[in-house]
Amino acid sequence: MADILLIQPPVRDFYLTRKRTIPYGLSSIAAVLIQNGFSVELFDSLATHKSRILDYPDEMNHLRLFYGKPDQSPFALFHHFRHFGYSYEHIGKAAGQSNAFLVGISSLFSAYQDEALKTAEIVKKWHPDCKIVIGGHHATSMPEEVMKNPAVDFLIRGEGEVSMPLLAKAVHDHLSIKDIPGIVYREENSSLVITPPAVMSSLDHYPLPATHLIKKKYYQRNKSGSIAVVASRGCPMKCSYCSMGESGLPYRRRSVESVVKEIELATVSEPVRFIDFEDENLSLDKKWFL
Ligand code: SF4
Repeated sequence: MADILLIQPPVRDFYLTRKRTIPYGLSSIAAVLIQNGFSVELFDSLATHKSRILDYPDEMNHLRLFYGKPDQSPFALFHHFRHFGYSYEHIGKAAGQSNAFLVGISSLFSAYQDEALKTAEIVKKWHPDCKIVIGGHHATSMPEEVMKNPAVDFLIRGEGEVSMPLLAKAVHDHLSIKDIPGIVYREENSSLVITPPAVMSSLDHYPLPATHLIKKKYYQRNKSGSIAVVASRGCPMKCSYCSMGESGLPYRRRSVESVVKEIELATVSEPVRFIDFEDENLSLDKKWFL
């Protein structure tokens, strides 16, 4: 049971890079929600070794020609198209059991947008009384597309650390949501209101991620801990193929002291041998980085 449930959806693909799926962003949002007095659960659909083979999606049928049968080559692992993580039914039941009044679902990559929307649909089925909000890079870039799905009540553009506590309070206390930074919602006449992405003004003023909500054992490598860290946000470049260029999120850095403190705290509970920096552009400022 929790006030708010945050969900990392499963992934359907030929492969999964497990060491890069630590739900750092959700744990960062969870920390701010906890600071604001809400209880939070984090359901990481990918924190399991379960996967099952699926039929190729229609748009990938042409790949059968190349991946027709398993072999011993380095490409053998791409033979099957799979559902990685817990089943949608399992996720839906967990959402119902949480009894959360607000469920947040991450939608980071456009290639996995269907998984985020299917997660929203199954949560609505098993827990129809909750409100569902979707956030992440894909949601920020394509709000109209995501909001076509009636299971999604709200969408947050930009950094959820800013918007989620305000949205949680508004939903809990039945207040207006229209002034929440980054919020996307439907008016009574079904027209869409889309606001600019929310931006964290001073990264050091936010709490460190609530990493106690992460299933650390699953992310261990060779029996040692693995952690993710984000030392900066945004990117000033405008690469045409990358959603960051159009996101409107400015480049900001944390202080070196804050980053080191986070790493030191992570190593108190277990030896850590793998640190995954998930910054958009970690080495942009080489002097700060080194
Ligand atoms: S994050 Fe990387 S790919 Fe994206 S705009 Fe910045 S430099 Fe380009």
